Amino acid sequence: MVSLNIDGKQLSVDKSCTIMDAASKLGITVPNLCHNPDLSTFGGCRLCLVEVEGNPRPLAACATLVQEGMQVKSSTPYLERLRSTNVELLLSDHPNDCMLCERAGNCKLQELAYYYGIRENRFEGTRRTYDKQDNNPFVSREMEKCVMCGQCVRICEEIQGARAIDFSYKGLWTKVTPPFEKDLDCEFCGQCVGVCPTGALTGKMWSNKGRQKFREVDTVCSYCGCGCNLTLAVKKNQIVRVYSRKNTINEGMLCAKGRFAYEFVHSPDRLSRPLIRVNPKSNWVLEDTHDSGGPGKQVQRSPALQDFKEVSWDEALEYIAFKIREIKESSGPDAIGGLSSARCTNEENYLFQKFIRAVIGTNNIDHCARY
Ligand code: SF4
Ligand code: SF4
Ligand code: SF4
Repeated sequence: MVSLNIDGKQLSVDKSCTIMDAASKLGITVPNLCHNPDLSTFGGCRLCLVEVEGNPRPLAACATLVQEGMQVKSSTPYLERLRSTNVELLLSDHPNDCMLCERAGNCKLQELAYYYGIRENRFEGTRRTYDKQDNNPFVSREMEKCVMCGQCVRICEEIQGARAIDFSYKGLWTKVTPPFEKDLDCEFCGQCVGVCPTGALTGKMWSNKGRQKFREVDTVCSYCGCGCNLTLAVKKNQIVRVYSRKNTINEGMLCAKGRFAYEFVHSPDRLSRPLIRVNPKSNWVLEDTHDSGGPGKQVQRSPALQDFKEVSWDEALEYIAFKIREIKESSGPDAIGGLSSARCTNEENYLFQKFIRAVIGTNNIDHCARY
């Protein structure tokens, strides 16, 4: 353990802690854009500079390990001036787009600009502008808004293990891109969107659906048995974004389905009542043999909605029981199989296999998540 003093408060922490970690234990927030406790140290934004007695220059709190007897100041007029200038420099190469940006109201750069009261900018020069639109289906990439915090690159490599993006080019033109500037073609987990502190990375489906004053609903993803925790951002009774939370089973991470595939919830095509197929033979049709001149051939087609009628749950369950009994009596229990779903709970899946084995009398039971 190492004892140190931050802003006049004494504490002891493990010697592997950084000054940033130690400050957070005291409830002291050191401004930053690139620090993420779940990722490796980056030390790129230079906003977390702190004064350490005996050091001629400020040190990056996120990248400096604590030492015995350290005397740290996290905020002084000099440090605040440095930080404000750094924010001003970032804004000097940043589009003035807060009015339309999907991240406005939830953007760390906007917050910092507000905190330091930066309305005018003393710095003028070349600005990055990019014309290319990324045609991937999920992640909107507006790289003019990137502050080079590297969180997306690190989370993609260190947590997702995909390494789908990295820094390219140099100096002012440094840019986070997929290989060879191609369209993003990755796992679309959206982890990068989740950590991006600005509007550089957002969800494409977020566009113009509302960006503030959401009703937040904590829930569990229904796509598979992992049980990832979700927070639904709801506006006018519509889900407009999906986030996740730290300190949950999934530690704030999600897969592409959990994060982006939520629009089905409001689809008018969703079934809301049981359907019974009224004409089971209607899925066989005569193939058009117009070109060959030969006789028509029977081919299978997907059943259409008109092949079904809506029934009550009682009617549907009675029909299923009748059919199962009929098949079992005429062909034996092994003529029946059960296919269960990852969207059910463990308990439901357990009951289903019990029903197939003990009630029907067959071991023909499988699950959609087993490839
Ligand atoms: S990324 Fe942040 S600062 Fe930049 S335009 Fe969007 S809201 Fe404004
Ligand atoms: S969506 Fe996931 S896999 Fe794709 S770049 Fe972002 S973090 Fe990497
Ligand atoms: S795209 Fe976002 S997360 Fe990635 S480096 Fe830029 S600002 Fe950081």
